[in-house]
Amino acid sequence: MKKYLKNLLLILLLTIISMNLLKSETIDSAYVYNHYSNIAQKIINKAMQDSSAWDRLAYMCDMFGSRLSGSEGLTNAIMWGKKEMEQEKYSKVWLEEVLVPNWKRGTSEMYMTYPRVQKIAIEALGGSIATNGFIEAPILIVSSFEELDSLKDKVKGKIVVYNYPYKGYGNGVQFRFWGAVRAAKYGAVASIMKSISPIGYGKIHTGMMRYVDSVAQIPHSSISLEDALFLERMQKRGITPTLKLKLTCQTFPDTISYNLLAEIRGTEFPDKVVAMGGHSDSWDLSSSAHDDGSGIIAPWQAMKIINDLGLKPRRTLRTVWWVNEENGVRGGNNYAEVHKNEKHKIVFEFDSGVFEPVSIGISGDDNLVQVMKGIEPIIQKIVPEFSVKIGGGGVDIGPMMKLGVVGSSLNPKGGDQYFWYHHSNTDTPDKIDPMIFNKCVAVIAIANYIYADLPNFVSSN
Ligand SMILES: [Zn+2]
Repeated sequence: MKKYLKNLLLILLLTIISMNLLKSETIDSAYVYNHYSNIAQKIINKAMQDSSAWDRLAYMCDMFGSRLSGSEGLTNAIMWGKKEMEQEKYSKVWLEEVLVPNWKRGTSEMYMTYPRVQKIAIEALGGSIATNGFIEAPILIVSSFEELDSLKDKVKGKIVVYNYPYKGYGNGVQFRFWGAVRAAKYGAVASIMKSISPIGYGKIHTGMMRYVDSVAQIPHSSISLEDALFLERMQKRGITPTLKLKLTCQTFPDTISYNLLAEIRGTEFPDKVVAMGGHSDSWDLSSSAHDDGSGIIAPWQAMKIINDLGLKPRRTLRTVWWVNEENGVRGGNNYAEVHKNEKHKIVFEFDSGVFEPVSIGISGDDNLVQVMKGIEPIIQKIVPEFSVKIGGGGVDIGPMMKLGVVGSSLNPKGGDQYFWYHHSNTDTPDKIDPMIFNKCVAVIAIANYIYADLPNFVSSN
């Protein structure tokens, strides 16, 4: 009987111990707070100590310029990045070949020739055909596709000008993507859009446009807000201005470029990967500090901080410079093709400009959102509004997310301020606050280090 009691007590004791062990392995927000507060504070201290992240971004922008796919600037920036990474002693640094489109802007020139002569600044939209000498035609201004449809009998032989009201970036993109196709369908000889931006000051914003096989291709370009409003005022007076336009853009055969990758190998699960990055290419009107110079420099800087602090995550932590987001997404697609059989736990993208980093978004694992809420109090020390939310993604990580990988991204507070500069000649390093950039670096480093280091993911291991 005594022996029986002793055994019972032993079993009870073992049960209690094992229950506690199980309990201690529960990965929740409290676990994240308890295990990562000190590390997160170290990352914050290191990220905030100087302007090295901004210095590196400005160096790349100033030394290599714009980085359109197929340009020398892009190749030079990628090769510089590789060389710098190799000096930082990661487990591995390498390039993966990607065939990218090769469109060149050439020159863009325009004059109003009636009712008087005035030069009007213009830029071709990405992918536009050239004009084959000057095109001269009267204009037809519309504010929407509906208005264009209602005036379809008046479109033939005209240059259609889209002077739509700004209702956010997404709304403006339809005129950039489809403006030429919609106007050409009714016989327009060219189309022009007001730049997509909430503010003017003469800036011209470029970006990708599209053609379809079934409709004739016409040149498509962009003008400033001021000039779109000027032409509209003329039309409202009953005057139909005539424009004379010449674009010399050209599409060359696809050319070789690269995704750039560097990684710190995981200590426990080296075959499981957390990949974080942005896109190395840009439009060609500026050095593109926000879009997306910041998106390749910040995750790289985050990895450098993790490495410099001697932190060794359980999973492999990789930084990626995806190429050709702006006019093809070839880098993102190539990455998914090459790495589809690798076990990715998270793909993270930073491609939304450098503003106060008010949240981290996660798509595809709502449990992880709850777990990661454990870092909120730590990051709130530098970003009081910070939260972890459902919903994250990016163009370059889209192909991996389609394969079922959890996606995550940094959401800045900027709102429409990003579109003051986006795809224009004003997207330069002086528009980026070094200390806010440091906060972005810190948040990216903390979140991705934890993604890579958590013992197991609640819902996806
Ligand atoms: Zn971008």
